[in-house]
Amino acid sequence: MNTAKHAFCGFVAILIASVLLPHPAVAQVAPEKQTVLDWLSQPETVTKFGRISDSIWSYAELGLQEHKSSALLIRTLKEAGFTVEQGLAGMPTCFVATYGSGKPVVGILVEYDALPMLSQKGRTTKHDPVVADAPGHGCGHNLMASAATAAAIAVKKAMEKHSLTGTIKLFGSPAEEILVSRPYMVRAGLFKGVDAVINNHSGSGFQTAYGVSGTAMISVTFRFQGKTAHSGSAPWNGRSALDAVEIMNVAANYLREHLHFSARMHYVIPDGGEAPNVVPDRARVWYFLRNSDDKLEEMYQRVLNCAKGAALATGTELAEARVLAAAHQSHHNKALAELMMKNIELVGMPRWTEQENAFARALQKALGGATNGMPVKIGAMGKPAAVFTGGASSDHGDVTLVAPTATIGFPGIASGAQGHHWSTVASGFGSTAWKGANAGAKAMAASAIDLLTKPAALQAIQKEFAAYSKTHPYKCFLPADAKPPLEFYDKLMKQYRPAMEAFYLDDKTGNRCGRDR
Ligand SMILES: [Zn+2]
Repeated sequence: MNTAKHAFCGFVAILIASVLLPHPAVAQVAPEKQTVLDWLSQPETVTKFGRISDSIWSYAELGLQEHKSSALLIRTLKEAGFTVEQGLAGMPTCFVATYGSGKPVVGILVEYDALPMLSQKGRTTKHDPVVADAPGHGCGHNLMASAATAAAIAVKKAMEKHSLTGTIKLFGSPAEEILVSRPYMVRAGLFKGVDAVINNHSGSGFQTAYGVSGTAMISVTFRFQGKTAHSGSAPWNGRSALDAVEIMNVAANYLREHLHFSARMHYVIPDGGEAPNVVPDRARVWYFLRNSDDKLEEMYQRVLNCAKGAALATGTELAEARVLAAAHQSHHNKALAELMMKNIELVGMPRWTEQENAFARALQKALGGATNGMPVKIGAMGKPAAVFTGGASSDHGDVTLVAPTATIGFPGIASGAQGHHWSTVASGFGSTAWKGANAGAKAMAASAIDLLTKPAALQAIQKEFAAYSKTHPYKCFLPADAKPPLEFYDKLMKQYRPAMEAFYLDDKTGNRCGRDR
C-alpha cells in the first residue's frame, strides 16, 4: 500500500514537473534546429509539401521519364531561392539544387520515379487502378521527393536566419527503381567536395541503420540476332533468337545452384518475337544480377558465358550485352547514423488520427496481416546482419563509397502494405503520407543543421569514412562506355501518359488539373 502511495506521489510530482518545467528535449534544441522544426510544423508548409507529394503520386512517371515530377521540384526550389542545374550526368531529369557557399557541404538525395503496372486509387483497400496497368508509386518515392525538398528549403531558411556558413545541395536522382542515376552522377563528379550525405526512404517505420546492407546489382540486357524463316515450310533455314534466350535462361537457372547464397538473379523477356509462324530473328532478355560487392563482377562473367553458350548452341549471334546500370551495396556511416537517430528521437513518430488508423487496419485486414494500425513507436538503430544473405538494392550505394552517407527511413505508408505492390500506392497518398513525409523532412533538416553547425561531429563522421575508404576504395561497376538508358521507359510512358493526364493533381489546390500544368 505504502509503495503504491509513494509511486503515485512520484507520478504526480513528475507530471507537475513536466507541465511547469521546460521539456528537457525542447530545452536542448539549438535555435537553428528549432527554426527548421518550427517552419516545417506550420500548417501551410505541411499542406504545400503534402500536395507536392500527392501531385507527384498522380504523375507516377517511370525512370528517366520524370519530366513533370522533376519540373515541379525544380520550380519549388527556385521559388525558394535555390540555384538549380538540370540535365546533369547525361540525364534530362537529373538536377542539383544549391544554396550557400563554402564548407561544409551537406547533400540530401531525392528520388521521384514510379514503377510499372502499379496504378491504384489512393486510400483504397482493394486493387482498384486509376488507369488500368499504368505506372504507380509503389515505393513511396513521391513522399521522398516532397520530404527531401522540404528539408532542403527548411535548412536554407535556418541558414539565412542564423547566418550559417556552408552549402546545402539537393541531388535530384532519377530512375532509382532501375538503379540508374547515382553511379552516373558519381562518375560525372557531382559528389566531389560533398562532406556528408543524407539519404532517405519512406516506409512504415522511423529509423536508421549503419554498416553494409542490400545487394550490389548489374542490370543488363542480352540481345541475340538470328535469321527469319517460315516456321512451317522451312524452319531449317531460320536461326531463332528466342531459342537463344530460352537456352541462356536454362543455363542461368542451372548456374543458380552454384552461385553463393547471397546471389539473386531474375529476368524478363521484353522481346521474344512477334508471331509463332515467323522464326524470330531478334530477341532480348533483361536480367537483374545481385550479389555482394566482391562477388558481383564474377557472377556477371558467368551469366555472360551462359549467353555466349546459348548463341553458339543456336547458331545466332550475341549482338549486345548492354549494361544499363551497375550499383554497389550500401555502406552506411555509423557516426552519421547515430547523429540521425538522435534527430529521429527528437522528432518522434507522428500522431495518427483514428481515421488514419482505421484505414491502416482495413488495408491490413484486406492483405491478411495483423490489424495493428499505424506504427506508434520509432524503430531501433539497424545493425548489419551477422550473415549476409542478399536482398534488394539501391543505387545510392555508390554515393556511400564517395561521401559519408546514411539513410533516414521515415513513416507514412501503412504497416503491412507491401513494397512494389498496389497497397503501397494506396497508402502513399493523403493525410498519413503528408504527416510521414513531414516527420522525415524534420529528421533530415535537423540532421543537416547538426552537420552544418557541429564541426566535431562532422569530423568524427569523416574520420570514420576515411578509414573505411582505405579498405573499400570506390570502383565504378559501369563499363567505361555505358550511358544512361534514356529511352528505356519511353514507349511505356507514352502508352499510358495520355490516360493518366486526366487524373493529374494540381500541387497548389490538390484538385484535378489535367495536362496543362
Ligand atoms: Zn524505393
